[in-house]
Amino acid sequence: MTADGHFEVPRPTNEPVRQYPPGDPHRKSLKGRLAELTDARTEIPMTIGGEHRAGNGKGDLRAPHRKELSIGRYAVGVVKDFDDAINSALKARRTWAATAYHERAAVMLRAASLLAGPWRDTINAATMLGQSKTVHQAEIDSACESIDFWRFNAYFGDQLLRQQPYNDATAWNRFEYRPLEGFVFAVSPFNFTSIAANLPTAPVLMGNTVVFKPATQTLLVSHFLMELFAEAGLPPGVINMVSGSPSEISERVLRHPELAGIHFTGSTEVFQHMWKTVGENIDKYRTYPRLVGETGGKDFVVAHESADVTALRTALVRGAFEYQGQKCSAASRAYVPQAMWKDMRSDMADLVEAIPQGDVADFRNFMGAVIDGKAYAKHMAAIDYAKKSDAAKVVAGGSGDDSVGWFVRPTVIETSDPDFKLMKEELFGPILTVYPYPDGKFEETLELCDRTSPYGLTGAVFARDRAAIRTASETLINAAGNFYINDKPTGAVVGQQPFGGARASGTNDKAGSFLNLIRWTSPRVIKETYGPPTDHRYPFMDAEPTDRP
Ligand code: NAD
Repeated sequence: MTADGHFEVPRPTNEPVRQYPPGDPHRKSLKGRLAELTDARTEIPMTIGGEHRAGNGKGDLRAPHRKELSIGRYAVGVVKDFDDAINSALKARRTWAATAYHERAAVMLRAASLLAGPWRDTINAATMLGQSKTVHQAEIDSACESIDFWRFNAYFGDQLLRQQPYNDATAWNRFEYRPLEGFVFAVSPFNFTSIAANLPTAPVLMGNTVVFKPATQTLLVSHFLMELFAEAGLPPGVINMVSGSPSEISERVLRHPELAGIHFTGSTEVFQHMWKTVGENIDKYRTYPRLVGETGGKDFVVAHESADVTALRTALVRGAFEYQGQKCSAASRAYVPQAMWKDMRSDMADLVEAIPQGDVADFRNFMGAVIDGKAYAKHMAAIDYAKKSDAAKVVAGGSGDDSVGWFVRPTVIETSDPDFKLMKEELFGPILTVYPYPDGKFEETLELCDRTSPYGLTGAVFARDRAAIRTASETLINAAGNFYINDKPTGAVVGQQPFGGARASGTNDKAGSFLNLIRWTSPRVIKETYGPPTDHRYPFMDAEPTDRP
């Protein structure tokens, strides 16, 4: 027997951020777990239909800040594994789609509770080790943001289901929120564990089943997420995690006729490639795949002459260099009035030079290493380019050291050319380029900022003058999907600043909001008529007295 009830998902609040000061018991237990994982060289299987798979070969995962340290061996899957993952998702779909929303939401709420409690150290430690995040960066990402995604999405999904059509007295109209017809492909980037936590689960909450391909660099923490999902009660086959060559996986998945959606976060280039592949195969799918992608950014800070200089400097340092600038939202270009820049430049350089950087296991560090050798080479090449250019000079940093790990010093570059390459292209590293603009040319600078890069993700204006804030908000209306007034452009909080941008930065489907969940449902409208007509003719067809027989 089943019994009915209109259940309401509890209204969530954001998970409090732990501070881990010296002497704190949470600090001790996290350090303990970090030490265990450092020595564990964890075996990282794929998880397909609830079963672990070893693949056909092993890849080696290294800690970015200790490149000789192998932290895990991951399974390299082959075509059969990828096909099995798709089939397993399709097989699990029927039962999962038929599972009531409140039960699906309950799994996510339990997952959040497990992560807030017993799994917190493991997920944070794996993120610190695998992605070189400081304890604070790991805590706000892998613990708090993941928990928030699961709790807030469960709540927003519940609100969405309450949206129903209007009725008149003759019929009852209903929206049924069906999952998409097929499976969803979730592909996450290296830089946020919370994105790996969100991309597969947002579609799952809405009744879909998923083939999940995390970034290789995050496989350690992604494996633990899969274990956590199982413990939370997610049935086998609902999320199937594969690893191996990204292009081989994509090749199998994107051409499958039952691909119903892609939930992607990563670079613009990869997303555009996926979109093109879907376009080439568009006549082969059972249904038009939903394409949701959050991609690159070249995020800006524009200062007005009325800005609070100390607040601006703090925002630039935190916004550009936290997590080594490897946030899609990181401040990477700044526009500061020449006079103000002249006053603040040397203080800012001193601050940046003093930033402690190193092994994230040493909690005194503000920064760790960049993700891998490829990123290191790219950042060092950009710095070198600036050093050789007549239009730029290095104000702080400008060096790197790859002897132990992939350490790039936080770097500030000043340029006299607003179209300088480093003002336009995403570098995804700890490099901030500043264009000191002619005093009094605020409005022209806003227009310049708007047209300089193809992206539209985040941006900030610093000003005390209300008119300047208004002008910036208007001129930059399409330059950022997340716009900050007197704050750094990073650190969006689920439920408070739903995240995403347009232009080359993505489809702007705002992760962590009802707008994102809408993409994972294909509603059916039902009209149930109380008294169906029994005569096909309408009253206008009745004869008038003057009508001839
Ligand atoms: P990436 O594009 O290199 O990789 C992202 C994912 O795509 C990974 O899982 C990767 O293995 C996979 N991939 C790579 N090649 C593929 C292919 N041919 N087919 C299918 N999948 C493929 O990005 P990254 O280096 O992991 O992350 C950094 C990028 O992500 C930056 O551009 C950053 O701006 C962006 N990002 C954007 C947001 C946002 O919300 N807008 C958030 C985080 C990161």
